[in-house]
Amino acid sequence: MPKKILIVGGGFTGLTAALRLSADPDLSVTLIESAAQLGGLAAGFPLGGTTLEKTYHHLFLTDTAILDLVKELGLQDQLLWCDSSMAIFRDGRIHPFKSPLDLLRFAPCSFPGRLRTGFASLYLKHRKNWRGFTRQTAHAWLTRTCGRSAMDTIWTPLLKGKFGRHFDRVSMAWFWARIHIRANSRSGGGGEKLGYFRGGFNAVTSALEHEIRRRGVVIQTGATVEKLLADERAAIVNREKVAFDFCLFTGPSASLARILPAGGKLDEYAAQLRRIEYLGAACLIFTSDQDLGDFYWINVNEPEAPFLVFIQHTNLVDKKAYGGKNVYYLGAYLPPDDKTYLLPDEELTRLWFAYLPKMFPGFYPAQVGERHVFRFRAAQHIVDTDYVEKIPDHQTPLPGVFLANFSQIFPEDRGTNYAVREGETIAARIRREAAR
Ligand SMILES: Cc1cc2nc3c(=O)[nH]c(=O)nc-3n(C[C@H](O)[C@H](O)[C@H](O)COP(=O)(O)OP(=O)(O)OC[C@H]3O[C@@H](n4cnc5c(N)ncnc54)[C@H](O)[C@@H]3O)c2cc1C
Repeated sequence: MPKKILIVGGGFTGLTAALRLSADPDLSVTLIESAAQLGGLAAGFPLGGTTLEKTYHHLFLTDTAILDLVKELGLQDQLLWCDSSMAIFRDGRIHPFKSPLDLLRFAPCSFPGRLRTGFASLYLKHRKNWRGFTRQTAHAWLTRTCGRSAMDTIWTPLLKGKFGRHFDRVSMAWFWARIHIRANSRSGGGGEKLGYFRGGFNAVTSALEHEIRRRGVVIQTGATVEKLLADERAAIVNREKVAFDFCLFTGPSASLARILPAGGKLDEYAAQLRRIEYLGAACLIFTSDQDLGDFYWINVNEPEAPFLVFIQHTNLVDKKAYGGKNVYYLGAYLPPDDKTYLLPDEELTRLWFAYLPKMFPGFYPAQVGERHVFRFRAAQHIVDTDYVEKIPDHQTPLPGVFLANFSQIFPEDRGTNYAVREGETIAARIRREAAR
């Protein structure tokens, strides 16, 4: 009898694990996803005749795990490498921020602050050892290294945008990884290249789904694993008992804590999972005939701005893919109990659109076509200076139950690349356990 594997979560981690586990003829794999569709945080929705991610997504040249998978799935022709262009909105102006020269011209920051920021970025690009950074906060290191003016105009707004009130707790090791990886994602001395798929990331999700179904994986969407049982290897899925030999949970750590049974070591493990704090993400996507400039990505570094980032997706990918419309994202990380996060879609749209004329005085709401708001409750975890001690083990104290999710990725930022890497690592481990 093949051993039964239950995978909880149909994001990139769960789908990759399903692909690897289903290669083993001694295993029978079922994948349960509570959403109506697969893809998790990288899931798409139909737009302009194709599929677009509900939250902005791209790849870096350094994302080798997902790039290898894309090749294996025969999708390399669908992968486009596009020129990225970045800017910062500050002091009422959009400042290009693509090159060292742009940094030198970045007027909101003092000249010594610009020079110090340039040297700091160069240092982080070439430094290989991140462990010495683990216990320092990015805020303290950057303040010391780049000075007050660079903090006020560049770094503090970025840290606040990503981590809200936790901005001064974030580990410098995480920040090192952001700069180090990004700086090395440049092609042979040219500008930054970002990867995107014809048909969006859904091209990968669909290919994974197709292949794992072909290999016999049973996929149930719209089904939630509500409880893991204490005395037998089984879970409650939509009120029904489902037996397994091994279970892989790929949702947020706090969600696993909620479905674990109580008692002894499990209580300690659940408490450790709950120590990982998450922020939610809200994204407003709109299409328009209006072209709002040349940049793909604009960090909004004004203290009173209601969102963190403005993205003109069709400056990365040709608008022909979306029926000739420009496609925009506005995004913010917010606690899921924050009043802005909880606003009805129409009010959030009104609030964020009201800010846009400050960035683009000619912004013309009448030209906006489609608009969509998406929210994810557990979108970004807080990687503070004792985060290494918080990282949960893959093996839970519940026999046969494993955890693989983005809270185990450190110091790198979470991403589909690391989800693929984690999915592969955990699948190999479960295969070894199952073979015993
Ligand atoms: C705003 C934003 C921007 C991003 N930008 C990028 C980017 O540019 N490039 C990039 O590579 N990555 C990006 N990411 C990160 C990337 O989306 C994630 O790292 C990756 O998708 C995580 O995959 P995962 O499978 O580990 O988790 P998830 O995608 O979270 O999947 C977990 C799944 O488990 C399901 N689940 C949870 N609990 C249960 C349960 N009890 N029963 C059934 N199902 C359950 C959830 O519904 C979910 O679908 C971004 C993320 C966000 C939020």
